[in-house]
Amino acid sequence: MGRRTRDAVTVTCSACGAQDAIQIDITLPDDSDVTFNSCHRCEHRWWESGSRVIDLNAVLEKARKR
Ligand SMILES: [Zn+2]
Repeated sequence: MGRRTRDAVTVTCSACGAQDAIQIDITLPDDSDVTFNSCHRCEHRWWESGSRVIDLNAVLEKARKR
């Protein structure tokens, strides 16, 4: 989905509290930066833009725009 990714860092999972959830910054085709978070323990996944949690549908909507 993203064209550029930077190094992954670890964050605390908001669902199970695991401290090794992966966070990846992704730049969408419209040049907006979003953050993808994924916990491999409980498989909780969430997206953030800035410091706000955003809906995946909003991310996909952005990705779809040209
Ligand atoms: Zn988790």
